Amino acid sequence: MPNYICVTCGNQYAATEAPPLHCLICEDERQYVNPRGQSWITLDELEREHHNVVRSLEPGLAEIGTEPKFAIGQRALLVQAANGNVLWDCVSLINKATIEAIEALGGISALAMSHPHMFGSMVEWSQAFGKAPIHLHSDYKQWVQRPDPVIEFWEGESHDLDEGLTLHRCGGHFKGSTVLLWPEGAEGRGVLLSSDTIHVAPDRRHVSFMYSYPNYIPLAASTVDAIVDKVMPLKFDRIYSHFYHLAIEADAKGAVQRSAERYKQAIGIRS
Ligand SMILES: [Zn+2]
Ligand SMILES: [Zn+2]
Repeated sequence: MPNYICVTCGNQYAATEAPPLHCLICEDERQYVNPRGQSWITLDELEREHHNVVRSLEPGLAEIGTEPKFAIGQRALLVQAANGNVLWDCVSLINKATIEAIEALGGISALAMSHPHMFGSMVEWSQAFGKAPIHLHSDYKQWVQRPDPVIEFWEGESHDLDEGLTLHRCGGHFKGSTVLLWPEGAEGRGVLLSSDTIHVAPDRRHVSFMYSYPNYIPLAASTVDAIVDKVMPLKFDRIYSHFYHLAIEADAKGAVQRSAERYKQAIGIRS
């Protein structure tokens, strides 16, 4: 039985004879159902017209994206950390060429996901790399569409990985919205992998915060403040979010603070 993949959000579902009738992630108000109707694809079909590209972003960090664009079009990031490689977020496509490219970088010892829009085919990826554990915040239990023993739920506000990285729950976009801190990144100044908990704007000088990006639903000022309060004590100077080219190279904390003030002014909290 195939594990069908939703063509709009890229989530791979548990094996079924026929494609599922609904995608819970797309039917949620933060996403949207394919205008042509709910549509599905299998991994074999996906591989026929797509491939993954692996590129280095800085020493110890690579991005993995699917081309041509599929589903949301995000990149996954591979952090080569002190005690093993961690895949941050995921894409739907995994194939032999991708596995070989990742093996050449040292493989994967753990996976961690920011939120359900980035789950992709995470269980398939884990199985390709020796059933590496997938770290998910426990708030995401209801959003997992392909349950598997490789998924390890963590509770609370932060979670240290054996590889030398730390996950922090910021909330906002999702209750469990998570960011990953890589202290050795940016030549030791620290890197925050923010996915779209903190979304880097195309000007690469500002960030934004949204309940729904595709449906343009903003967050309350108090929620934005809570996200900022969560990340300010962390040591980082650079942010990478979940699309190609979206990074704040330096003074990322200043960008977060200035952007949060601008955001609150725009939604009418500061005059
Ligand atoms: Zn979907
Ligand atoms: Zn999202």
